[in-house]
Amino acid sequence: MSKKVVVLAETRENTLRNVSFEAIGAAKQISDGGEVVVALFGTDVSSLANELFEYGADRVVIVEHPHLKFYTADGYNQALLAVVEQESPDAIVIGHTALGKDLSPKVASRLQTGLISDVTAIEGGGDGVQFVRPIYSGKAFERVESESTPLFVTVRPNNIAPLEQQAGKSGSAESLSVDITNLRTIVENVIRKATDGVDLSEAKVVVSGGRGVKSAEGFAPLKELADLLGGAVGASRGACDADYCDYSLQIGQTGKVLTPDLYIAAGISGAIQHLAGMSNSKVIVAINKDPEANIFKVADYGIVGDLFEVVPLLIEEVKALKA
Ligand code: FAD
Repeated sequence: MSKKVVVLAETRENTLRNVSFEAIGAAKQISDGGEVVVALFGTDVSSLANELFEYGADRVVIVEHPHLKFYTADGYNQALLAVVEQESPDAIVIGHTALGKDLSPKVASRLQTGLISDVTAIEGGGDGVQFVRPIYSGKAFERVESESTPLFVTVRPNNIAPLEQQAGKSGSAESLSVDITNLRTIVENVIRKATDGVDLSEAKVVVSGGRGVKSAEGFAPLKELADLLGGAVGASRGACDADYCDYSLQIGQTGKVLTPDLYIAAGISGAIQHLAGMSNSKVIVAINKDPEANIFKVADYGIVGDLFEVVPLLIEEVKALKA
């Protein structure tokens, strides 16, 4: 039977994050021909609805409120519960991002429903839908189904393909007025750390360095390679602990969990806690001078060598290919 699915669109600085389109793709599959309604929160966000239609939204419900300009668990909880109350969906889909991880348990508990988190693949649709999610820090996958109503899932970024963008596709956008009250936190402003280049959590290519990079300056060739490949720089905790880079770059069990198309690990040994953050990348290239390094067990391509020789060679090759 086809289903009605509500998706929460995620925005940053009034642009839609890719995970919103991936969540719509997931919702389409779950809906099995039913309706996909996208909830869009913020201030002055209505112009973003068109892009949501182009990626497959049938309807967009816009909740604009000064307290929704920046994410707070209380504010988004109230807005999403209001949309769910209006729509009575069979399923809800949110990105498994920092926002989604914070918000989804709160909303699920208020709805007294189960939560299937960190979904990396969806099989089937409608009544027979099943969800695949990693367990044991990515060492195994489980396939789950749920009889909870509404079904509530969070989808890991970069795993579920969005639908192809259909330029000019439109749909119905409507406003919902929600009284956002009793906030325990009010966010007045968000000052983001200045980063040049691609956002690590959405990057298709990640070039990561570990303790083998040996210094903050040692990251320069990794940054050059990442820039050339249109990607972002990441790091192991070893590199962060050694103060070679900022903890915001840390990938792993206690850092970011990523699934880029290409992950290049340079001077990283491949500790289980690091693998938990990157082992589901589509293609993994490891550069390490120790042929026994654990990272080679998960690598699709392994280069045994000194990263300070190998990375400059890769830079030259990529430059030659681009010339
Ligand atoms: P090392 O293990 O020291 O490895 C350095 C590697 O560089 C070696 O394999 C070496 O052969 C190679 N190398 C050295 N010089 C060169 C060169 N010139 N060229 C090529 N290769 C070279 N770690 C994470 O990464 N992310 C996490 O989220 C995380 N969470 C943790 C949570 C807990 C509770 C605990 C206990 C640990 C966690 N760790 C995490 C730490 C983890 O266990 C490892 O200590 C860490 O990942 C090691 O970092 P590394 O691979 O950079 O360093």
